[in-house]
Amino acid sequence: MIAVPAPLRLRLDGDALVANWRWLARQSGPAACGAAIKADSYGLGARAVLERLAAAGCRDFFVATWAEAAALMPLPPGVSLAVLHGVRAQDMPAALSLPARPVLNSVEQVARWRDAGDGRPCDIMVDTGMNRLGLAPEVLRQGILHGLTLNTLHSHLACADEDRPENAEQLRLFSALRAKIAPPRASLANSAGICLGRAYHFDLTRPGIALYGGVPRAEAARHIRRVVQPEAEILQVRDVPAGDTVGYGGDWRAARDSRIAIVNLGYADGYLRAHARHGGGRLHGVHAPLIGRVSMDLTAFDVSEVRAAREGDWIAIDYDLSASTAATGLSPYELLTGLGQRFERRWDD
Ligand SMILES: *Cc1c(COP(=O)(O)O)cnc(C)c1O
Repeated sequence: MIAVPAPLRLRLDGDALVANWRWLARQSGPAACGAAIKADSYGLGARAVLERLAAAGCRDFFVATWAEAAALMPLPPGVSLAVLHGVRAQDMPAALSLPARPVLNSVEQVARWRDAGDGRPCDIMVDTGMNRLGLAPEVLRQGILHGLTLNTLHSHLACADEDRPENAEQLRLFSALRAKIAPPRASLANSAGICLGRAYHFDLTRPGIALYGGVPRAEAARHIRRVVQPEAEILQVRDVPAGDTVGYGGDWRAARDSRIAIVNLGYADGYLRAHARHGGGRLHGVHAPLIGRVSMDLTAFDVSEVRAAREGDWIAIDYDLSASTAATGLSPYELLTGLGQRFERRWDD
């Protein structure tokens, strides 16, 4: 295979990733701080994130599926991996051969693991009000865990990014279950949950989005550093006379004689059409507004103010997660996990 250099890349700041994890670990107090690396670490690249955070001291990692777990083998020494979606029958061969634990979510999954799990350890997810994955508290109180080698009891907060009474209600229910079941470890908080304070931390926290630069709550705003910077190469610079339009639908019309850069980036890369009218980039330190519609593989930027703009230059795309969320209505999770496979992922350190 001939290696072809990519015309678009994600610059990834490894120092910022580790600094974000360290801040979340400090906020977690005596609780261990893990890392959610599902969905390829929210699009950044799960293997690279796992290695960097393991080197920084993180010991507990979470993926969604067994295919994601298999892709991470071999694990760095001393690292524990749990699979949040539990085990389906089709997962059992992988679950019995890989060094990872299922997080069991249903009565069926518990029975499957008790019958065929060879006594291997597992985690349990209990639903305390979100009604997504997890066993009902009544079922847990009936002693369903008998015969399992339990590592960690989990629950997940539905509204931790907001100040809502549901948070305290989930905390109360989870605390009561933990007292009854007495698991070796208990874990409730995601990134936003860590910001809710000591009572929510238990033995282990499970941040995801904040590791990758998302600000889950105002408390984290000055502490979380940006990790992801998309950049795209200019394929063509063209002069557009006043009155001409650019792109599909002729949505943008030049109010003056303009210079336009066409770059290698589009909605097939996860740079969605919602960025039109809000997006922009920086070229040679100068702001270049996005113009017209985002196409599948191409987007146009107005570089009239950038005299030095040339074919082959790279534009840094505006991708501040909070600002882009406010402008587009896309969540920071969607902004990151949508970033496609055509980006070269390049770590700065
Ligand atoms: C994805 C996920 C997390 C991480 O959530 P963030 O909001 O990204 O911090 C934690 N726990 C569970 C169960 C998850 O599915």
